[in-house]
Amino acid sequence: MSSKLSLPIESHLAGALQKLKANGQLVLEAEPGAGKTTRFPLALLDSGLTSGLIIVVQPRRIAARMVAHFLAETMQESAGDTIGYQVRFEKRLGPKTRVLFMTEGMLLRRMQGDPELEGVGAVIVDEFHERSLALDVMVALLGKLVRSRTDKLWLVVMSATMDGQKVAEYLGGAEHISVPGRVFPVEMKHLDVPSQNHLDQQVRVAVGRALSENSEGHILVFLPGVAEIRRARKACEKYQRAGEIEIFDLHGSLALKAQRQALAKTNCRKIILSTNIAETSLTIDGVRAVIDSGLVRESRFNQQRGASSLVMCNISQASATQRAGRAGRTQEGTCYRLYTRQAYGRFSAYDTPEILRADLAEPMLMLESLGLKIELMPFLDAPPETALLQARSLLKKLSAIGDEGLLSLGKEMLRLPLHPRLGRLVLAAKETGAGADGALLAALLAERDIRQNRDEPLETGDSDLLALRDLFTEVEKAGFSERMMRHARLNVLSVQRVRQARDQLLRSISCKKSSTDNEDALLQAILLAYPDQVARMAVASGKRKGEQDLVMVGGGRAALHASSVVREGEWVVALDVEERQTGTDRRAWARQVSRIEPDWLLDHFEDEVEAVDGIEWDGARGRVDAISQLRYGSLVLEESRERAKPDEAVTELLITEAMRKGAEQFVDMGAFASLVRRLEYAREFFPDVEVPEVSRDDAQSQLRLAAKGLTSLKELSAVNCVKRAEESLSYEVQNVLRKQLPTQVSLKGGRKLTVTYEPDKPPWVQSYLQDFFGMDQGPAIASGRLALTLHLLAPNRRAVQVTGDLPGFWDNHYPGLRQSLMRRYPRHGWPEDPRTASPTRPTRRRKKQS
Ligand code: ADP
Ligand code: MG
Repeated sequence: MSSKLSLPIESHLAGALQKLKANGQLVLEAEPGAGKTTRFPLALLDSGLTSGLIIVVQPRRIAARMVAHFLAETMQESAGDTIGYQVRFEKRLGPKTRVLFMTEGMLLRRMQGDPELEGVGAVIVDEFHERSLALDVMVALLGKLVRSRTDKLWLVVMSATMDGQKVAEYLGGAEHISVPGRVFPVEMKHLDVPSQNHLDQQVRVAVGRALSENSEGHILVFLPGVAEIRRARKACEKYQRAGEIEIFDLHGSLALKAQRQALAKTNCRKIILSTNIAETSLTIDGVRAVIDSGLVRESRFNQQRGASSLVMCNISQASATQRAGRAGRTQEGTCYRLYTRQAYGRFSAYDTPEILRADLAEPMLMLESLGLKIELMPFLDAPPETALLQARSLLKKLSAIGDEGLLSLGKEMLRLPLHPRLGRLVLAAKETGAGADGALLAALLAERDIRQNRDEPLETGDSDLLALRDLFTEVEKAGFSERMMRHARLNVLSVQRVRQARDQLLRSISCKKSSTDNEDALLQAILLAYPDQVARMAVASGKRKGEQDLVMVGGGRAALHASSVVREGEWVVALDVEERQTGTDRRAWARQVSRIEPDWLLDHFEDEVEAVDGIEWDGARGRVDAISQLRYGSLVLEESRERAKPDEAVTELLITEAMRKGAEQFVDMGAFASLVRRLEYAREFFPDVEVPEVSRDDAQSQLRLAAKGLTSLKELSAVNCVKRAEESLSYEVQNVLRKQLPTQVSLKGGRKLTVTYEPDKPPWVQSYLQDFFGMDQGPAIASGRLALTLHLLAPNRRAVQVTGDLPGFWDNHYPGLRQSLMRRYPRHGWPEDPRTASPTRPTRRRKKQS
């Protein structure tokens, strides 16, 4: 370790340990390559501050293994001696082990069984800026433990890029050391315009440029994932010159030896094609040029599926800065960015901590097992309220927790390395003797799709998941022959992953491989894992024939992907619903669904099924129906309907529908206006009587009066609404209307005239002029206070006068009018004194055509 003394952290180690000793907790910031990971744990070990185990939490599996091996070697030991590590699927740990590198997932698992971390003297949390959900939960737990444990637990949090002050405060006043960096200037070279080329071609051009523009130093290329690394290697092969320029890959799924080669010191120039593992976790000495694709493949948890999938996305600006910084660690360097300055401007400033966007079911369950409520845990960043509610509700539906906390099923779920959803599936399958199948289904859900092209439709069936199981089972029967897998268009690597995950699960549930034919049991197990994603299939309107929509239990809709094997049946669970944005259109798709029987909902979720009685408009019959339903969320499992019994709500619904069709279809609007006018007069002339306010535009209240006791539009059409409305008025008002504001008046001669009430004019009657002979005064209503307007008609039924003043007419107009009437209608009598004459009727007989 000749370079040991030159590491920036070296001169700060003693001071850092001193501060840790005084405070108990330490936050240590230093640039990548400063020596945090390799130097601090050993320095702590040497300090004798603790005789217990020193656990170093290293978020990336590959980093944990590499560092452990590297350190063991420098001590002339093997991994598993003084220095050990423990990651998923791999463990090097012995009785001599004093420093143990492990991922946060492994430590959380350990804390589940051993919450006090017995025998552990210190925990060093490295690369805390990664801020995975498990890291945040773990640090929250460690913070508690530091305070509660009787014997000392030293806690150190380290990172190259974090808000160290904030973390120190969060830990309740930890010491904070920031080791000054030794960073050389890095020249930034952006693209002028976005490139249209494939990424591997862009890398080829950039590597060529970096080789020609820099005469020495390694070139580190940041790529999103393994597939891109493979393609870039092909494209860059032409630069390879044995002994001079060598190309290395660096990613998590490499064999340890290959990983170490990428980091090892060599005399040749290296082109290292790496994932973001080299951003801060692993340091390669002698890098002078960085090529940054600006892309990363991130694991995104799919809440619905209960598993993560990888999504390619842009890195954050903070991450871009880190990547560029790798070129300036030992001397000045250059960073070639495969994106424009503008594109960089659109990157988000920082990575969002996972806890702010994650599903919380898993940590919630884990904390419940420790008797802790996640809602009460102090986190560095508090998770959103909705995520907390969602997680609690899901765990309840999965029967993992009850109101009192952890249930036995939840305890069993925690023993499985799976999201509680998938845990439920496995346990439910196991209970019916189909444990092996359950393990396979969970593995298929948790890992990448085993097909090369998941859009390719399979045969129709009951469940997309069972269809995948059948595919897997076939290749298993063929001994996982690669030829056959390729022939069946399966992804060999994915099949291997599924197999590995399945076998691990089989061990966890101590179950042997053997399949059942009990498909219904498996379909039910799937339902038990996805009770919140039940859906009903509906033929989508306005779509191609056969295309199906899913109406989800939560009320949303999703289209069933064309590749699904489920083509018929009504009830399903959707295992994954993906939202996709095309332009402004946001649509949801379900790729994998699985058939269920509605009865199973009653069998397993009796408490969630509710009986709902209500009324509903039956458009076809034009009537209000009483319906009683069995519902699961927003979905109707069973329904019966019959004609509703009339009540207020029924009337309201009937009226709403009548109004929609147009009130005039049911109400004689003229008659209605007349009634309203009479009511207005009643109010005016009889203030002592309580008259209801009805507006003449208010056909709705009119209908309301009329529709009482009715349930259909047909009935409503049949009734005289205005009459019904009048009859519904109080007796007193009806009396006033009938007696004082009548619709008919009698003249002296006995003739009955209809009184017309119209808006904005006095009430009027019409009749032949002669009918008024013998009358001194015209008819009046409202106790004689409201004179009717008279339309006085000539024998041809034309009005010769409209007047409210009969005496005035007799005196002033009649004498002159009489002359002309006598000329035109000589056969009628036109007396000189109309006041004393008796009313005469015009001759019925019509004159011949003149
Ligand atoms: P930090 O954790 O602060 O980023 P490290 O402790 O990882 O820094 O690295 C300190 C030095 O040790 C660096 O110069 C790095 O290149 C070297 N180093 C770390 N791990 C290995 C390894 N596995 N093989 C070779 N050199 C390594
Ligand atoms: Mg490190």
